[in-house]
Amino acid sequence: MEVEVTLKVKPKYEKMYKSGYPLITKDAISNVNTLQKEGQLFKLIAEDNSFLGKGYLGKQNKGYGWVLTNNRNEIINQAFFEKKIKDAAENRKVLFNSEDTTAFRLFNAEGDGIGGFTIDYYDGFYLVNWYSEGIYKYKEYVYTALTKLGQYQGIYQKKRFNSGGKFIEEDGFVEGERAEFPLIVKENGVNFAIYLNEGAMVGVFLDQREVRKKIRDTYAKGKTVLNTFSYTGAFSVFAALGRATKTTSVDLANRSLSKTIEQFQLNGIDHEKQDIIVEDVFRYFKYASRKQLKFDLVILDPPSFARSKKFTFSASKDYKNLLKEAIDITEENGVIVASTNCATFDMKKFKGFIKAAFKELHLNYSIEEEYSLPEDFKTMKQFKEGNYLKVVFIRKA
Ligand code: SAH
Repeated sequence: MEVEVTLKVKPKYEKMYKSGYPLITKDAISNVNTLQKEGQLFKLIAEDNSFLGKGYLGKQNKGYGWVLTNNRNEIINQAFFEKKIKDAAENRKVLFNSEDTTAFRLFNAEGDGIGGFTIDYYDGFYLVNWYSEGIYKYKEYVYTALTKLGQYQGIYQKKRFNSGGKFIEEDGFVEGERAEFPLIVKENGVNFAIYLNEGAMVGVFLDQREVRKKIRDTYAKGKTVLNTFSYTGAFSVFAALGRATKTTSVDLANRSLSKTIEQFQLNGIDHEKQDIIVEDVFRYFKYASRKQLKFDLVILDPPSFARSKKFTFSASKDYKNLLKEAIDITEENGVIVASTNCATFDMKKFKGFIKAAFKELHLNYSIEEEYSLPEDFKTMKQFKEGNYLKVVFIRKA
């Protein structure tokens, strides 16, 4: 394929793209109205017409496309995709060979050299998430590359972009064999039930692997654990396996009850000895406070945005208040695991929320652990916002 459009970078942004910034934004490009055809390749040039990079156009919430190379001689073709995917697989060799962990991220978009799509591996099955119509035009490159990687059982995909006004819903099967769901995968020896044929969320968020392990290995033993926004209860399962006295999982979604029971059962834990509550977390906090319930370990992992009947939550605006409610029901000397996947603020700002929450309650704290994305969620130093995950273990003094 030949380079088709030329994009001109505004002088102010030249240095940024020269040093490898990958995202095409509206602010940075002066002839932004030529950004039209999804998937079209572009050449990026400076004000003086000098070459800066090449990439493709694809509109997603983050921007208008991705720079793929700063080398003028590189051609964006099958071989280009193949090399990036092969390198990524090489990079995850330890995970591929692990018997304890059979689910991980194989290809993390721009972090592995091509923005706009990710590939996760679930014990023999690949799941490709496509974030723009533009990158979806290159799907055959990706599927061919996966086939050449060697043995796999099947490929599934999810289109996470808006095509023709609505999200296309389908079971997502692409090729190979269909999986039988639930597909049982392992993470550090723990079983998870995965459904690649359901919505965007397949049963577990792979980016929290290290945090779950830390909770199980170091923080859970003999503790009462409250897991808020618990989804399928992955943190609760790890806490229970780490010999927590009891776990309490709270999530608004009806599905969370059966899904959490399923995860406990898969790991030989009696779910009747655990609490699984389908309720708005903000209502639960009020209830717990009224009843003077206290927990040794409180896990907070809300979505960046959430709207329920009575409350709206936006991590960038409301995290401090969420923390204050959590602090209120945490035992003295207890620990809060505060997590966010909100990309609009960084770790420094997140710690600012923590500081402000404790200050307003006239309480002290210390920070015991900090996590960002694990290694398989590879990120670029030139694209800090790609490392969206921030997790802090806070001890209430
Ligand atoms: N912590 C989970 C992932 C959370 S996903 C894990 O590690 O697996 C976000 C979850 O928050 C969803 O399951 C959603 O149903 C739930 N949720 C959103 N708003 C909520 C609210 N107000 N109260 C309780 N749960 C909520």
